[in-house]
Amino acid sequence: MSLYIILMGVQGAGKGEQAKFIRERYGIPHVSTGDLFRAMKTREDELAKRVQQIMASGNLVDDATTNEVVKDRLSQPDAQGGVIFDGYPRTPNQAAWLESYLAERGEQINAVILLDLDLYTAFKRAFGRVSTAAGKTYNIYFNADGLQEFKFEDHPEKQFPPRLVAVEQGTGERLIRRADDANADAILKRIDTFVATTQPLIDYFDAKNLVKRVNADQSIEAVSTAIQQVIG
Ligand code: AMP
Repeated sequence: MSLYIILMGVQGAGKGEQAKFIRERYGIPHVSTGDLFRAMKTREDELAKRVQQIMASGNLVDDATTNEVVKDRLSQPDAQGGVIFDGYPRTPNQAAWLESYLAERGEQINAVILLDLDLYTAFKRAFGRVSTAAGKTYNIYFNADGLQEFKFEDHPEKQFPPRLVAVEQGTGERLIRRADDANADAILKRIDTFVATTQPLIDYFDAKNLVKRVNADQSIEAVSTAIQQVIG
């Protein structure tokens, strides 16, 4: 039997980690439409150029193009046992198209897993995240044990928002903060956009009894276990 899972969650809910878990546990590939579109960056054809333009503007790619790209991905050999969708569907139209596409093949969406996280925690997971050059991450709110110190430093003329300075214990390495995490406005905007675009989809799938809510405010392992129970 094939397994088609839709994974949803606000940024910071741990979608990436859980997609990896599902992929390894159930042997189905992770299909992120954002990744598929980004992979078109090096292509010169009309479709790829149009997608690049739309992404740069921050808008959504139109449903027809998105569905076409998904259809192509689903036809590949590694996707025959199902997939985990991430970032797709983004609109009720895409959802309806996916359902009918799968139904034509005798398949269906098995579950819509919503990684449930309160928005304040989601904000702190992004805003408080710092990492080493090698990619080890800490969070000043949740995971500060390995930090020698952290503090917010005011710009002398208050021209910029305070800067987060964090140093790793032991190595003394000054930690890095992603530019998009350092900008509180940008984080709030991403969260707002998530809520605005996801709610209609949650309503759509709730009406079909497909949405399974998993508490994302627990350890990665505990969330994985809960997901396994849902899929099981
Ligand atoms: P993401 O990495 O999921 O945030 O996607 C990056 C960008 O790709 C989005 O801002 C959209 O422009 C585009 N995109 C990704 N998935 C979709 C989708 N399902 N429908 C429309 N546009 C999408």
